Amino acid sequence: MPNADQNDILFERARAVIPGGVNSPVRAFKAVGGTPRFIRRAEGAYFWDANDKRYIDYIGSWGPMILGHGHPAVVEAVQKAVREGFSYGAPTEREIELAEAILALVPSMEMVRLVSSGTEAAMSALRLARGATGRKHIIKFEGCYHGHADALLVKAGSGLATFGHPTSAGVPPEVTQHTLVLEYNNIAQLEEAFALHGNDIACLMIEAIAGNMNFVRATPAFAARCRELCTQHGALLVFDEVMTGFRVGLHGAQGVLGITPDLTVLGKVIGGGMPLAAFGGPRAIMEQLAPLGPVYQAGTLSGNPVATACGLATLKEISKPGFYEALAKKTRTLVDGLKAAAAAEGQPFNADSEGGMFGFFLMDELPQNYATVMTTDNAKFNALFHGLLDRGVYIAPALYEAGFVSAAHGEEDIAATIEAARQVFRTIPSP
Ligand SMILES: *Cc1c(COP(=O)(O)O)cnc(C)c1O
Repeated sequence: MPNADQNDILFERARAVIPGGVNSPVRAFKAVGGTPRFIRRAEGAYFWDANDKRYIDYIGSWGPMILGHGHPAVVEAVQKAVREGFSYGAPTEREIELAEAILALVPSMEMVRLVSSGTEAAMSALRLARGATGRKHIIKFEGCYHGHADALLVKAGSGLATFGHPTSAGVPPEVTQHTLVLEYNNIAQLEEAFALHGNDIACLMIEAIAGNMNFVRATPAFAARCRELCTQHGALLVFDEVMTGFRVGLHGAQGVLGITPDLTVLGKVIGGGMPLAAFGGPRAIMEQLAPLGPVYQAGTLSGNPVATACGLATLKEISKPGFYEALAKKTRTLVDGLKAAAAAEGQPFNADSEGGMFGFFLMDELPQNYATVMTTDNAKFNALFHGLLDRGVYIAPALYEAGFVSAAHGEEDIAATIEAARQVFRTIPSP
């Protein structure tokens, strides 16, 4: 079978032994249709699938690969760490170094605890917020994703007096009954929620630049109001920066917006592609954690020596002067080029970026919330996705995901991407 598609063959094998053939649902291409590409190897801005077809990679493992794949300094650090042992279950100096490096870059954090995934970090931050305040209720926003802890798999109830409903089977309604789900960027609704429930709210958790409903910024006024209302009511403001941390800039979304949260949740880039995440904040709150305080939290592989080596080497590279300026400029070139290509072909289109993160929309306005994002023409997005994929450009296989540019993307990659997009726009009927 010389022409057999190796991705098809692998997908069939995978589906026999792994639910849906994937270990995280969005990888299955369910939203866009077609066969997921099974990746064999990656280097710099590219990866190659099972047919040895090359793609320019704009997902970067959903954010972590900010240096591109196989950065030499990171590879060397990981290889050295591996030779010294994979895991000890006892403390190491490297954990201190990584903690110190993170705290130096995120001034709102005085202490940090390392964990293994963004889900775990967000879940732990939530428990800590409840433990530290002695309160039960939490606020989250429609379209923000904070991992898959039970209390966060929730959609809005009807009206502000009622709390959220589970969005997944297996989550009892009792577990989401303390989660209030509000509309992103809706100041009036936020004020009403605090007026009704303010004294019972442990924390407000938010992606201040949201990357899980494509790319939507909190307006400065909305973000400032979140801060004010939390302070007034004694609730903790939790910035989930698993995606935005060290991605939109060296100081995260909090640096971009100039807002100091109480707790910060990090992941993705801080592990440089290894399983590593973290949460942190002021000393008085963080010392509520076990073994010092009453809030329990633990992990067999937390602060893993190989993962911390990878994270440290990554942080060292991105801390170099001019790193984010260059990355942001390249990302803006991509976004501006896509806008121009769409305009030239008469397609409604808009796009935005911050640092090395971007989003684009098949509509004229930049959406302010989840409901607007979801009005995107699905069929058109899918045509664009597959058109780009055929041309060797790999963007996220769902319209509600952000995109990522790495330091390894070259000018010629950006130009080739814009040209591919122009060709695909030409094949899509304009309105
Ligand atoms: C990816 C992500 C998470 C979950 O992280 P995992 O490592 O996938 O568990 C949480 N919050 C945000 C904002 C994310 O983008």
